[in-house]
Order: sequence, then C-alpha cells, then structure tokens
Amino acid sequence: MVRRSQNPRRKTIDIRPIAPPGMLAQALFARCYRPVVNAWAAVLPRIMAEYERSIAMRDGQPSHLTIGAPDLITDSISSLSDLLDAIGRELSDLVLQLLPELREWAARVESWHRGQWRGAVLSATNVDIEAVLLASGTPQSVRDSIAWNTSLISDVSDQARQRIANIVFAGMRDNRPARDIARELREAVGLSRQRSLRIASDQLVKLTSSLDRERRAEAGIRTWKWRWSHKKHGRPEHIARDGKVYADTAALAGDGVLPPPDDLPGTLPFCGCRSQAVLSLG
Ligand SMILES: [Zn+2]
Repeated sequence: MVRRSQNPRRKTIDIRPIAPPGMLAQALFARCYRPVVNAWAAVLPRIMAEYERSIAMRDGQPSHLTIGAPDLITDSISSLSDLLDAIGRELSDLVLQLLPELREWAARVESWHRGQWRGAVLSATNVDIEAVLLASGTPQSVRDSIAWNTSLISDVSDQARQRIANIVFAGMRDNRPARDIARELREAVGLSRQRSLRIASDQLVKLTSSLDRERRAEAGIRTWKWRWSHKKHGRPEHIARDGKVYADTAALAGDGVLPPPDDLPGTLPFCGCRSQAVLSLG
C-alpha cells in the first residue's frame, strides 16, 4: 500500500515521533498518586496527638522513673506502632480503590497515543491504519502499566509509612519536642509528593515508549531512529545515539542500520528518550 502511494525512489520514510504531553503525567499524579500522599498528610494530626500523649505521659513521671522504666517507653512505642499499623491498613484499602482510576488513565493514554500514531502514519505514508488499530485490541503495554503503577502507588504509601515511623520513634527515643516532629513529618510527606511526581512523569514515558514499540511491531516496521530527550543530565550514551537508526534484531542490521542497543529508548529509570519509526521501502 505504502509503496504504491509514495515516490518509489525514496528508500526510507521517517514517521514523526510521538511526544506525550506533560498533562497526562499530571493526570496520573493527580488521580492515582496524590490521593495517597494527601491521605498521609491528613493522618499527621492523629499521629502527632499520639506522639504528644506519649511524650506527656513520660514527662509526667519523675525522671528517675523514666530513665529506669523501659516498660513505659515500650508501651508508648507500641501504641504509636499500633496506630501506624492501623493507618497503613486504611491506606492499603485506598490503594485498591484507586485501581479504576488507574485503568481509566491508562486507557486514556492509549487512546491518545493511538490517535497520534494513526496521524503520524497517515501524514508520512497517506495510508490510514485505523482498521488495523481497531482490530488489535488492548495492547499488552496498557496491562503492564496498570500492574506497575499499582505496585508503585503501594510503594509510595509504604515508604511514607516507613519515613513517618522512623521520625516518631527516633523522636520518642530522643524525647524531642512535638513541633520539631510535626515539621519533620510534613517534610516526609513532601518527599513522597516529590517522588510521586517524578514517578508519574516517568511512568507516562514508560507506557508511551512501550506503546511506540508495540504499534510499530504491529505495523511490521522493524527499524527506528533514536531520539534523545534533550532533558538535563542526559545519559552520554543516549546522547551519542541521537538520530542513529537501529533495527529490532541484529539480523536486520547493516547498510547504515545498527543492531539493537542494550537498552531501548524510555526504558531506563527517568530516561525520556524516544524511538521514531523508520519505514524502509528497500
Ligand atoms: Zn535516555
């Protein structure tokens, strides 16, 4: 089809790369990660109340009793620990409730990507692949992304719990004032928020670059060009690959086409590089 509709002397056709908009990462953060971060922020007053109660209980004792009374400290620690466990269970339920949001997000990204790919193929080749795309069903990349994000959202929550536990137990041990602990807890939640934002933008790259590969394979296109992200702190080996043409397998390499590199665009942590489909008409 493509050969008929294009200039036959041209040997390769570059299909324009697909660049996902940041608002899709923002949507993943807002709908699936932020609820967990906010839930931890919302329970901080409960944790602080328990911390203050524990400290006050200990301060109420004569100092010789406090120093010589490991039972009292153990009691306070165990009630704080029980509280954190209870909150951890509430948060696990929340993570499960976020699954439909996550599915919807992945479906939205896939639909956006499908439209972009269809448009890119159409403008490069004058061939409309809509029927092929409709027949192909839900890509594996979408299922993988839902599973991966589910585990990352749990991990964000678990890590927040661990950070909070470390702060309150160290505070108990050193008998630190409640206001210092409150500030450290807010900072801990802030770190979880930062991490979630980074994860969301990385996960958007992961899903879309994996969709790039899946759609390309489906269209029978086996060669592609490496597109460096131009992000700050790019990996030198990725910058060196910018614009080079690679094949999906070593057997297809040769004639200016390189064998596949060790890692593919957008697969390493926080790599924003992409692949651009190159159609060979040789
Ligand atoms: Zn990269």
